[in-house]
Amino acid sequence: MASTEQKISLIGSTPEELKGHLAPFAQPAYRVNQIYQWLHHYQVDTFDEMTNLPKSLRKALQENFQVGSLSMASRQDSMDGTIKYLWKLRSGYSIESVFIPEEKRKTICISSQVGCALGCGFCATAQMGFLSNLTAGEIVEQIIRVQADTGEKITNVVLMGMGEPFLNYARVIQACHIMSSPEGLAISAKKITISTVGVVPRIIQFAKEQQPFSLAISLHAPTQALRRQFMPIAEKFSLDELMESARFYTDQTTRKRITFEYVLLEDVNDSEKEARKLLHLLSPLRCKLNLIPYNDTGLGYHLPGKSRIDKFVTALYRAPFSVTLRKNRGNDIAAACGQLFFKSETEKNPRFIKSGQPVSTT
Ligand code: SAH
Repeated sequence: MASTEQKISLIGSTPEELKGHLAPFAQPAYRVNQIYQWLHHYQVDTFDEMTNLPKSLRKALQENFQVGSLSMASRQDSMDGTIKYLWKLRSGYSIESVFIPEEKRKTICISSQVGCALGCGFCATAQMGFLSNLTAGEIVEQIIRVQADTGEKITNVVLMGMGEPFLNYARVIQACHIMSSPEGLAISAKKITISTVGVVPRIIQFAKEQQPFSLAISLHAPTQALRRQFMPIAEKFSLDELMESARFYTDQTTRKRITFEYVLLEDVNDSEKEARKLLHLLSPLRCKLNLIPYNDTGLGYHLPGKSRIDKFVTALYRAPFSVTLRKNRGNDIAAACGQLFFKSETEKNPRFIKSGQPVSTT
């Protein structure tokens, strides 16, 4: 019998992979589909609950595999209903997911990596550096576990937790297909949004592969000069290249609209001048703009006051694209965008405490 440490966890396996795992047990082909559904659709916790499998197979599975691999390390409830989960991985690292309930929509924000390599100046996760990629199973299991814990069916998934999904492309795409497959989690592909910092070759690949999931790009600045001041990725892929890849994506089908995310940082990117530049930059594209009020991460940036935000929004009044201002949820438990791991790690580990320097725009 394999020890728990060595057992492969089956959540997140494609039918092809399950077929490989089942090969030593000489089973009819239809077992693959049955197990895939138990894992991802019915979301059982144990092999014993897979009641249409012969007892002997359930026992063999139990001896050789695990259903999932995340263990809940903590759960924090916000006053506004948002819940932040901290999961311990087998590797010993921890990751976070955030459940954001609204009346009809039940959104989960999930992580794709432990830490992040990209170093965006305003983001808490960036302070950890890159530690590890998540497996497809670890990505999918965050949703399964939150559904089980809350008793709610997740309707929307955003890959906006820790990490850069497009630097873990294959596993993220595999996980998203399991989320959207009718025999898997059966979440509408359109309601699964992958947010990227702007890894241009992967945006082009995503477009060419005609992936059915929604795409969001973290823009945060309307010019290359400003963007590169707080987003190191801009050194590698310029704003021009990024916009070209965005255009390539929207040209693939007539349906596709890109969401651009723009975090509002006081005196950095929130003037009316920048709003007008943004209007000019985005007007030719089929897109939406999602403004994100900055969530404090102790890195030296500030949330603009209401009147500055109002002016910024007003300057975009005539935009041919829709503009939304994201509601901040879960600030009291540090579960809002860019705050993930800020508290949980800094409380325990002084290595993650850094005094951020404000970025000068002058
Ligand atoms: N790596 C992906 C996912 C990151 S998190 C990406 O860059 O898109 C999702 C969004 O939250 C990104 O747009 C990110 O830039 C933004 N964000 C990061 N830190 C933030 C903060 N402190 N306040 C508000 N938004 C933040």
